Amino acid sequence: MTGRLLIWTPISFERRAVRRGLSPAGQEPAATVLRAGYGTIAAARRAAETDHSAFDQIAVMGVGAGLTADLRPGDLVVATSVGAIECDSAVLLAGELRRAGLRVHLGPVVTVDHLVKKAERAELAATGAILADMETAPLAAAAAAAGLPVVVVRAVSDGPDRPVTGIVSGGLAALRALRAAAPVVQRWAAACYGQPGSAQREVLLAGPRSFCAGVERAIQIVERALEQQGAPVYVRKEIVHNKRVVGDLAGRGAVFVDELHEVPDGSTVVFSAHGVSPAVRTEAAQRGLSVIDGTCPLVSKVHAEARRFAADGYTVAFIGHAGHEEVEGTLGEAPESMVLVQTPQDVAALAAQDKIAYLMQTTLSVDEAASVAGALRDRFPALRGPGSDDICYATTNRQAAVREVAAATDLVLVAGSKNSSNSVRLVETCERAGTSAYLIDDAADIQLDWLAGVARIGVTAGASAPPAVVSEIVSALSGLGPVSVSERVTTTESIRFGLPKEVRQ
Ligand code: SF4
Repeated sequence: MTGRLLIWTPISFERRAVRRGLSPAGQEPAATVLRAGYGTIAAARRAAETDHSAFDQIAVMGVGAGLTADLRPGDLVVATSVGAIECDSAVLLAGELRRAGLRVHLGPVVTVDHLVKKAERAELAATGAILADMETAPLAAAAAAAGLPVVVVRAVSDGPDRPVTGIVSGGLAALRALRAAAPVVQRWAAACYGQPGSAQREVLLAGPRSFCAGVERAIQIVERALEQQGAPVYVRKEIVHNKRVVGDLAGRGAVFVDELHEVPDGSTVVFSAHGVSPAVRTEAAQRGLSVIDGTCPLVSKVHAEARRFAADGYTVAFIGHAGHEEVEGTLGEAPESMVLVQTPQDVAALAAQDKIAYLMQTTLSVDEAASVAGALRDRFPALRGPGSDDICYATTNRQAAVREVAAATDLVLVAGSKNSSNSVRLVETCERAGTSAYLIDDAADIQLDWLAGVARIGVTAGASAPPAVVSEIVSALSGLGPVSVSERVTTTESIRFGLPKEVRQ
């Protein structure tokens, strides 16, 4: 059940643009493109006359009047809502349209029964709407009443500073944009429902997922520092590797810097959850900076082990990924005594050692790290290891959970940023289980082609990805047809870390 798309367009200009977009060579398009007529009364009548059971999904496309100053002729507005009708998959379509090179805005659309004049645009904008049209509300309401997925794409014909004088005034750019958007809307339709014949799509959430105790603590440290000291609060490196988290804190006054020389004298600086080397602590002390340490206690534990082994005369083989901040910080604890090993081949290349121990980055793949540790043990039978696992509980638990989800689904969406080690490992865990997986910062990153014909979708999130992103992904998927959402919980977590004394009050 994926193919019977109905696209409503108000009048013939818009219908022609959409049809040309769907079928540039002039043959009959795969979708049904109908004229709804001009204005709310005509659109309501056409909606009432239509047998919605003949279609699987509805799109409303046409031109419209921009209400906010940032909208330019030819921009597209994808409606998040029209009146009381929510368009949950709007974020997916908007993301796909942006990847197609179009300028896209997401926001509420309002339907009115007359052409809007300049003064009225400001009143409508004050309601939160970003675009006004004269047909969408009755068409979308009829689609929703029939239980069909619905999207609304309106191309801006004119903005608030250039009042409308006719429905296609300034509309050539708008019609071009509609034409370009039409094949993308068709991809949205193909992504609806899952496999033919399946009544609803399954969404299986991995548990645990999302924030770990170390990430929650690090974010809370920056929030408390902002509350107590006011902006700006400097943070060395990203506090955690997540675009949404960093953007949110930056919006509240956190200033992220790469190195300490960017922090003004006398300022407070927060060290990220990934930890720093002793050289960075020394530099901060020499500069007289006030430091609040956001290093995760489980990373600090590995640092302490590195110092202890080095002090006891061991060479420490550190299993990790070159270039990661945690790896740089830990290697900095005993640079003369530590050597980075990433693969069994690196182990084979090591010089003979009398006393050798190994430690690990906290966010490695459990399976991969075990193979490198095994190679070390084979080569050095007297090898010493950490007192307890270095790969942290959060990394281990999220990999175990997603492994089960991957086994039960056709595709897994992993919320997390590209520089998040533990999130990347979740994708690899799925792939090793034979299930395709994609790393996405948020729902807008989901490519519609990934979903076409896919009935069972797993969702998880790396330890640095906010829980809200998972909710947004599930909500967006529910806009593509009915979904049943369940959770596969492999373990529950209750670990919490205390805050450093500087921000405890
Ligand atoms: S992933 Fe593990 S080591 Fe990293 S912050 Fe979370 S709990 Fe700490």
